[in-house]
Amino acid sequence: MTEEENNSFNLVCPPIIRDKKNITLGHGSGGLLTHELINTTFKKILTNPILDEGNDGALISLPAYKGKLVVSTDAHIVSPLFYPGGDIGRLAISGTVNDVAMMGADPLYLTASFVIEEGFSLELLEKVALSMKSTCEEAGVIIIAGDTKVTEKGKGDGLYISTTGIGWLPEGRDIQGQNALKGDAIILSGTIGDHATAILQARGELGFQSNVTSDVAPLNKMLEELIKQVQDIHVMRDPTRGGLGTTLVEIAKQSNVCIQIEETSLPIKKEVKTVCELLGFDPLYMANEGKVVIILPEEKCNIALEILQKHKYGQNAVRIGSVIDNKQPRVLLRTPLGSNRVIEMLMGEMLPRIC
Ligand code: MG
Repeated sequence: MTEEENNSFNLVCPPIIRDKKNITLGHGSGGLLTHELINTTFKKILTNPILDEGNDGALISLPAYKGKLVVSTDAHIVSPLFYPGGDIGRLAISGTVNDVAMMGADPLYLTASFVIEEGFSLELLEKVALSMKSTCEEAGVIIIAGDTKVTEKGKGDGLYISTTGIGWLPEGRDIQGQNALKGDAIILSGTIGDHATAILQARGELGFQSNVTSDVAPLNKMLEELIKQVQDIHVMRDPTRGGLGTTLVEIAKQSNVCIQIEETSLPIKKEVKTVCELLGFDPLYMANEGKVVIILPEEKCNIALEILQKHKYGQNAVRIGSVIDNKQPRVLLRTPLGSNRVIEMLMGEMLPRIC
């Protein structure tokens, strides 16, 4: 017998450690415990006919009308996992649904991949799955495929979730970052900095009690209503990580236009302003998870605002500026004194693990 063959006899399977309360390495083995976890948590909560088939891949049908597939993917490593107004589950669904919706597409399906640290509470995992379920229901999407991996204790931080979204873009819709035109109006759907403030609150970094909750929400239903009534929207983008400032610079560069926004028109909650003053943050770079920037022809601005303001996620929608020329790609912030400040992209990382 060679040494190699001899060694193969020494491979002994460790005994199954059954822990009814916490995730064990066995839950990521692909064996019995993984199946138990999938059946008693993920499949039980997120059940739908496609997910329940249990094959290596999900078979999906796309709408019968002409169009294009829109796909987006995102990893979520937010810390802490639960914070005022949201949690990693709601974030993982909303973030990906919104990225698909920003293209003007109708989000249909999601996949979800979980990286869980050994020792993570099963009760918390169920809480996250339930939050994903309710957010999926709100957005009208289903999770059709998933994966679970377990890292050893100390080699992860509780839970990470990656989601991929699939949506259908009806033929004729063209909403993209490069479509902003000189003369367009710029709308923001509500207050900025709420998500970042809620995360800071949850981390105990504020030093005072704030009532600001995260704005994390799926925006696709509101945007579908808007697109149906206002057909010539040029750009939509969610100002998430990097904030409104970074998002506007991205669009200015993609469209090769100069964007001017009015400082006095920016909707910011008083408490968020206070947080920024105390901690030295600029609200323009504070993360949002339930807001959208919409760029559209000037003459469509008022009707779009009316539609948005009727929706719970767009109540505080306002016009914040205009696309003023197509000579130099940049973003200008006009101050109350009438001077212009050039807005750059966020440099470095202001708040790690925000989403
Ligand atoms: Mg986005």
